[in-house]
Amino acid sequence: MSTSRASRHLVFHELLDALRGGHLCALCHLENRSVERYFSSVFHESVNDPGLREELLKSRGYCPRHARMMLRNGEALGIAILYEDQVRLLLSDHEGGAAAERRAGGAICPACCKQTDARSRYCSTLLEWLNDADVQEALERSGGFCVPHTRYLQERAPARERDRLTDLLRRRLESLKAELGEFRRKHDYRFRHEGFGSEADSWRRAVRFLTGEDDVF
Ligand SMILES: [Zn+2]
Ligand SMILES: [Zn+2]
Repeated sequence: MSTSRASRHLVFHELLDALRGGHLCALCHLENRSVERYFSSVFHESVNDPGLREELLKSRGYCPRHARMMLRNGEALGIAILYEDQVRLLLSDHEGGAAAERRAGGAICPACCKQTDARSRYCSTLLEWLNDADVQEALERSGGFCVPHTRYLQERAPARERDRLTDLLRRRLESLKAELGEFRRKHDYRFRHEGFGSEADSWRRAVRFLTGEDDVF
């Protein structure tokens, strides 16, 4: 181990727990959790906060991806309050014509900002600790990282770490290929009696592995 255990910090432990948590992609899980926590604090503490309301007026609400997450994680009255602002804004555009449309908008979705911060925090910590023995062990037992997260990490990793990530991705893809082949084989009437095993949901995992978990990318 190149760096002392004492210098590990909270983000490192979150990462290690996520790798050990049996997720399809630990980074997708951590990003989703960061955004869910953001929405939880919005709906428990900030709906009436003028700062947040102003921020959402500037960004024109949440982007479509995070608006869908908000509907899953938010609370009816809070959403009604925030989106009444948005409806008023669109009506005022309508009344003010093109000049008003040009005036508003342009800021980035606040949930996108939270998610970008989380991605950068977890990925930079992961790259910093990729050679740590505990991370290595957890990584070998985990599902690895989805293709979009692997690409993101590879673009930022030094050569040796990049090769390790490439090898991990190749092995995960090989095992997925074997499961998909097995799933297809068992659809043949000659083998149907064998019944399905862990490959039963491989088609679903393949899509999620190639594109990331719901609403992460
Ligand atoms: Zn991912
Ligand atoms: Zn967003």
